Amino acid sequence: MKRTANIKPKIGLWKFLPKIISTKTAQCIYPFIFLPEDIYKDLISPTPKSESVAVLLHEKVHFERQKEKGIVQWSILYIISSKFRFNEELLAFKEQIKYLKKLNLTLDLELRAKRLSSYLYLWCVSYEKALLELKKF
Ligand SMILES: [Zn+2]
Repeated sequence: MKRTANIKPKIGLWKFLPKIISTKTAQCIYPFIFLPEDIYKDLISPTPKSESVAVLLHEKVHFERQKEKGIVQWSILYIISSKFRFNEELLAFKEQIKYLKKLNLTLDLELRAKRLSSYLYLWCVSYEKALLELKKF
């Protein structure tokens, strides 16, 4: 990956948030993409792992959607509508999973379903529904 100004590692203030947020999850807040430090470092290395590239692809979907809708509108909908939130995540996971599948790799769908049905995504969906939808890609 070329080091681009809008992709940043989660350092500094991010460290004050719960560890799972600063070290295990990425966030797009248009026009920036924030990545866990290990994933960021891997992506700027000469031979990044496919899993890291897949995370970036996931965030790039959010980036494009936020750009399209406008960050304010997107953020409000993301916070108030669990349906919108789940749909946005499905769009992003679709790209991530499709990319990994082409390389014969998989994503831990149980873990993703667990996270989607937790506080991390403001309980946007049940575990069962999340797993069912993720398995469709
Ligand atoms: Zn996402």
